[in-house]
Amino acid sequence: MYRKCVVCGKRASIVIERARVGFCEEHFIEYYERIIKRTLKRNGFSGGRVLVAVSGGKDSMALLYALNKLKDDLGIEIMALHIDLGIDNYSIESRRAVEKLLKELDIKYIIVSVKDYLGVSIPEAVKFVRKPPCSVCGLVKRWIMNKVAYENNYDYIATGHNLDDVSTYFLKAMFTYRYEDIVRGNEVISPPKPELKMVGRLRPQIFLTEKENLFYCEVNGVPYVDLECPLSRGALLKKYKTLWETALKLNPMSQYNFTRSILSIKKKIQQEEIEIKPCKICGFPTTASDGVCSFCKLREKIKIMKKNK
Ligand code: SF4
Ligand code: ZN
Ligand code: ZN
Repeated sequence: MYRKCVVCGKRASIVIERARVGFCEEHFIEYYERIIKRTLKRNGFSGGRVLVAVSGGKDSMALLYALNKLKDDLGIEIMALHIDLGIDNYSIESRRAVEKLLKELDIKYIIVSVKDYLGVSIPEAVKFVRKPPCSVCGLVKRWIMNKVAYENNYDYIATGHNLDDVSTYFLKAMFTYRYEDIVRGNEVISPPKPELKMVGRLRPQIFLTEKENLFYCEVNGVPYVDLECPLSRGALLKKYKTLWETALKLNPMSQYNFTRSILSIKKKIQQEEIEIKPCKICGFPTTASDGVCSFCKLREKIKIMKKNK
C-alpha cells in the first residue's frame, strides 16, 4: 500500500497514513516544509523575530533546521535557545547534540541553565517540592523562555509541539474534565502582548507527527538525542498517548481530525477574559490571584527549604 512516492513514482521511503500517501526522501522534505509554512501562514503569521527553543530531541531539532531553512520565505529572524535542565546524562547528551547542530547551522544562540535562575537543577527542585517532575520542569521552562525572549526583544518563541503531543494533551484534558486546559492551551499561534511582558508562541509542527519529525531529522542528517528523560517515567501523558494506537488503527485520520476539531471549536468559543497581571516579584505575567507567579513561588519555596535543611 502506498509503496510509491505520490509525486515522482520512485519507491516510497515513508508512508503518511493519515494522508494515504507515500513519499521518497526528496518529496517528503518538500511536504514537511510545506506543512510548516502552511500551518503558520493559514493562522495569520506574517513574520518577526523568533526564538526557537531547542531541547536536543528530534522535534525541536527538526524545527530549528526547518525554520532556519525557511527563514526568508517566512520573513523571520531566528535565534536558538537551549535550557540546560541539569538532568544528569540526559542533559549532557542533549546539550552536546544541540551544540553540534548549532555549529553546523552557524546561527545565533543562547544556552542557559535552570540552576542560574532557580538556584537548583530540575531533579533537585522536584525533590524539594514533591510535585510531578514534568509540571515543575514545564513551568520553569516556560518562565525562562519568556524571560530570555522578552529581554532579547523576540516577538515569538517557537516550540516543537507535535501532533502526538497536542492531541494527547487535549484528550487528557477531556478525560479529566480540565476543560480550561483546552480553552487556554496550545494554539498554533499565540500573539505577543508586550505590554504584559508576554512573548508570543508558535507551534509550527502541530500537524506533524513524531514519526515525521524523526524522519525529517534522518533524511537531513540532523543530530538529535535519542534518550528518554529519566524523569518522564510514569508521566501520565505518556500513558494517554498509547490510546491513539487503537484509534489510529480504526481511522488513520482520527488524531489529525480530533486536533483540528478542537482547534476550530476553540476559535469559535468566546474566551473568558482572564486577568493577566505582572508578578509582584519578577514582573513577568501571571494569572495568580495573589499576584505572585508559579515560578517565583517555587523559587521562594526552594530557598526556604534549602535554608531549613
Ligand atoms: Fe522536563 Fe518532563 Fe520533559 Fe523530562 S520529560 S525534560 S522532566 S518536561
Ligand atoms: Zn518522489
Ligand atoms: Zn514571578
